[in-house]
Amino acid sequence: MSVLTNDYEQLEERIQVLSENWSNQLEVEALTNADVISGLKQYPIIPQLDLTINLDKFKSFILELSHLLKEHQPAVTDDINKIESTLSDEVLQRWSKEAIAVNIYYFEQYAQDLEVEDWLGLFLAEHAVRPFLRKISSEVKETIKEVDSCTGCPTCGEPARLAVISKSGKKELTCPRCDFTWEEKKISCAHCKTEEHADLEILTIEGDEKTQIHVCHKCNGYTKVIDVRRMIKKESPQLLDIKTIHLDYIAQENGYGITEGKDTH
Ligand SMILES: [Zn+2]
Ligand SMILES: [Zn+2]
Repeated sequence: MSVLTNDYEQLEERIQVLSENWSNQLEVEALTNADVISGLKQYPIIPQLDLTINLDKFKSFILELSHLLKEHQPAVTDDINKIESTLSDEVLQRWSKEAIAVNIYYFEQYAQDLEVEDWLGLFLAEHAVRPFLRKISSEVKETIKEVDSCTGCPTCGEPARLAVISKSGKKELTCPRCDFTWEEKKISCAHCKTEEHADLEILTIEGDEKTQIHVCHKCNGYTKVIDVRRMIKKESPQLLDIKTIHLDYIAQENGYGITEGKDTH
């Protein structure tokens, strides 16, 4: 069902393997302070934390990914070599901060200054920072309650766009960046929270019973909803999001969009 080229999907699958390995490397040390977390009254949590990212690990994740990318896309080898030569602790510190904040502007500027492909810096930084986001997300999971009013991920602030129907039949919003999962009413809009049946519509894809697009006529938002009970292989939210990118195209072609939960810049 996917519109992605096999090549791209293969790359993403390989990144996924790396990414799981990175997550395992972060398992031992806690990145957050339980007392600080329990004192926070607002969501999302991560922008309020004073995080110390282990720069050696962050750098090793970037280098492993850049190695994979060079192998997969030899055309960007020179650009990546250029980038690698800039990765001082100072730059890595900045990268981790700007990647967490999804500062697209910073990475575009960085790429322009270095005269490399626009997407490269953000691509490397975003993938390398996700294991840290996932670790934080798992640490704060128990303290995050009453997320009914949240319009994006309560942990990292990513706008909601993906939900799964879990084994128990519940609709759960799930974050492709940090893996945080939170339950949502089946008939409701993840963006403006309306529960009016007249405002909500379900778009179905012919020949694909696993996936739906829940759209809202009130705010024009949409959420991709995937019935994982019908899937043989369990996929991470990150891969589910990528493999259902055709649903984003369909939603956007029909005039729906994802509202940004907050200004991240
Ligand atoms: Zn998140
Ligand atoms: Zn809505």
